[in-house]
Amino acid sequence: MVSYDELHDPNAEYTMRELSAETMGVTGERGGNRDVEITDVQTTMVDGNFPWTLVRVYTDAGIVGTGEAYWGAGAPELIERMKPFVIGENPLDIDRMTEHLVQKMSGEGSIGGVTVTAISGIEVALHDLAGKILGVPAYQLLGGKYRDKVRVYCDCHTADEADPIACADEAERVVDELGYDALKFDLDVPSGHEKDRANRHLRGIEIDHKVSIVEAVTERVGSRADVAFDCHWTFSGGSAKRLAEALEPYDVWWLEDPVPPENHDVQREVTQSTSTPIGVGENVYRKHGQRRLIENQAVDIIAPDMPKVGGMRETRKIADLADMYYIPVAMHNVASPIATMGSAHVGAAIPNSLAVEYHSYELGWWEDLVEEDVIEDGYIEIPEKPGLGVTLDMDVVEEKMVDGETLFDEA
Ligand SMILES: [Mg+2]
Repeated sequence: MVSYDELHDPNAEYTMRELSAETMGVTGERGGNRDVEITDVQTTMVDGNFPWTLVRVYTDAGIVGTGEAYWGAGAPELIERMKPFVIGENPLDIDRMTEHLVQKMSGEGSIGGVTVTAISGIEVALHDLAGKILGVPAYQLLGGKYRDKVRVYCDCHTADEADPIACADEAERVVDELGYDALKFDLDVPSGHEKDRANRHLRGIEIDHKVSIVEAVTERVGSRADVAFDCHWTFSGGSAKRLAEALEPYDVWWLEDPVPPENHDVQREVTQSTSTPIGVGENVYRKHGQRRLIENQAVDIIAPDMPKVGGMRETRKIADLADMYYIPVAMHNVASPIATMGSAHVGAAIPNSLAVEYHSYELGWWEDLVEEDVIEDGYIEIPEKPGLGVTLDMDVVEEKMVDGETLFDEA
């Protein structure tokens, strides 16, 4: 057996293929042109509205896959530590490799947090890579298409986020000028009536202020757009129930994360208390975390973040479980075009896709990071090119890299 130190030695001579052969009787070898080996994994961070972690997986066939991990400190370091476990592997064995990374990185905390996001980045790159090796778009690897294009909802901000009229004006602008028919606004904004922001309790006058934002926005664009409202895990169960009930007369697409994310009993109680749809999921990791929300019917809409929750196949598995409870999927997303397109491929392949988030409309150059058009008229058309179907513009990557980062090697 291989020792723990050997496992974590990046210069070790064994490969994960040998480990797999030892532990699972799998060699990874196969016929056709599919006997490909991973030779390297590299990351670079781009300074978007978040520090996006881009990942590239290189092979001995000269084919490179590009992915993205959810932003956050530590992901590049963790991916560097995972290199010994993927070099020498066949990139077509996506599920087994992902599961082995979870097992081998258990000491770093691989069932939640940044280790899962780091694994997700490799997993997304493997879908791009496997699609290119097999000559099929990534959605094909996930079981094929339910739809040719995926709806995108635009996360909106205003200079005065607590002013209902400013929110309604911005909603109208985004619908009329940017072409979206699905929006989201923050609702955990200060009303000016707070006595204590730490105790999670909402006073009646604060609820009235939140209702005035929802009323102004939905009355202005409600006939032309669906609008969700995000609370970012702010309120007590009792306050969340009162807020959700007060919003019942309005056409709220969903009310997001009204209570903190850890206690699913409270979450369930809030969701079951109201006809206002409750959306939850961006802070829950892997299918095991999402399972508890779904099986407890603690959500009306599940909102996994694909490059954070475990990757494209993990999101597909979550969506399948959610579908058994007739729960739709609205994918949380703050990524660059790389993981956004990964989420879109998942959205094409699952029956219960509601929408994918776009969170960068104020950035100005989001779409310049890739050579292709991505979002048009509020939808992402699913590319037919092999893999994810988007190509990094290396000049833009180089221009926008976080200080001190190194550009990817050529394929
Ligand atoms: Mg949110």
